[in-house]
Amino acid sequence: MSRRSDPRPELFDKITSLAKRRGFVFPSSEIYGGAGATWDFGPLGVELKNNVKRSWWRAMTQLRDDVVGIDGAILMHPRVWEASGHVENFVDPLIECGSCRKRYRIDELPDGDALMVRWRAGALDSSGMPCPSCNEKRLSQPRKFNLMFKTFVGPVEDSASVAWLRPETAQSIYVDFENVQQSMRRKLPFGIAQIGKAFRNEITPGNFIFRSREFEQMEMQYFCHPSQAGALFDQWKGVRKAWHRALGTPEEWLRFRDHAMDERAHYAAAATDIEFRFPFGWKELEGIHNRTDYDLKRHAECSGKNIEYFDDERKEHYVPNVVETSVGADRATFAVLCAAYDEEPDKEGTRVVLRFTPELAPYKVAILPLSKKPELSGLAGEVWAKVRPHVMSTYDETQAIGRRYRRQDEIGTPLCVTVDFDSLTDRQVTIRERDSMAQVRIPIDELVPTLKAKLRG
Ligand SMILES: [Zn+2]
Repeated sequence: MSRRSDPRPELFDKITSLAKRRGFVFPSSEIYGGAGATWDFGPLGVELKNNVKRSWWRAMTQLRDDVVGIDGAILMHPRVWEASGHVENFVDPLIECGSCRKRYRIDELPDGDALMVRWRAGALDSSGMPCPSCNEKRLSQPRKFNLMFKTFVGPVEDSASVAWLRPETAQSIYVDFENVQQSMRRKLPFGIAQIGKAFRNEITPGNFIFRSREFEQMEMQYFCHPSQAGALFDQWKGVRKAWHRALGTPEEWLRFRDHAMDERAHYAAAATDIEFRFPFGWKELEGIHNRTDYDLKRHAECSGKNIEYFDDERKEHYVPNVVETSVGADRATFAVLCAAYDEEPDKEGTRVVLRFTPELAPYKVAILPLSKKPELSGLAGEVWAKVRPHVMSTYDETQAIGRRYRRQDEIGTPLCVTVDFDSLTDRQVTIRERDSMAQVRIPIDELVPTLKAKLRG
């Protein structure tokens, strides 16, 4: 196996082109020229992303006795977003050039991080700053731009019927805390996990599915006694990084970045990002936050409902503290595509391989009759019928066998099963492994257990 290639700018183009060509990700509404940084997952992309989500769900709920799941509604009571602070504070500072009309978030301008600090302190004056695009000094003063999509519930579009598309899934976990805790008779500490869509009207989305206006989050809120939050924050950092490693991401492509005081929310006691080495640099893949009791307290205040928990071991009433882990399903899918991409020289030039773990691979097995002759198709169809109830699989009988192996390598299929003319008499088939390209011949009767054993690794 060749060494995994280091992230490099051309990797971005290679992955986006492979994603489109092989049915992973397409621009949404492409025949109309696209729809502002929204993306559709194609037949292979939906398998891959579902596998990422399934892996997260399994790790967070099935394998733990202290986390349960929910699936909350996208539309919530509008006061949820007042309580959470999103109506007032979920804003990006927007600057527009009076000359070329280009729009920027402040953090995209040269020295953007420093500008953001000044903006947060209310001390940013953009007059006299040159536009990075046209160099004219006609930038507007920053104005706040709320990132939530607004809509209306019912037939009348007035202020009483305003609703927002949720910008994060976390809030339904907070407002459902008591329902979950009581219906499931849970004692603290315990967590609630959720996978679902969220929407942000980003001023400048981009970098493929890294930042889009409609995306899917995988969030978990872990409720605990205030004295436990610090240690749990550290624990969850380790647990979450291990999950990314288990998806096949090399250690050297992941790192923690702790947030400085001035970049984290005022209520957060600690915040860290798990960063991934994307082709365009180190960027946030997952956020882990110690959010204290801020969210539950705010919802208690705004709803007028008491959300205190009675701890019968401690004989104490308190508002639980929350440690949150939050990762984008689309971003995680992009990361595993980057980490899996590999090239190695071969006699036809270059073999492109997506080295997905079997768990993530869209297809686990491809059934390939050596030729299109009907007598082979019959047996190959019989073999496929044996395999398909057990694992996600595909069938391909067009073009030369070597080309078909390459096609399966390029979409990350770990195992190919070849049915040849000898198979008709000896009832044996050949299994070919994606990574080593090693081949073994085995009886058709042993195929399913052998494939399962190989996929378990
Ligand atoms: Zn300009």
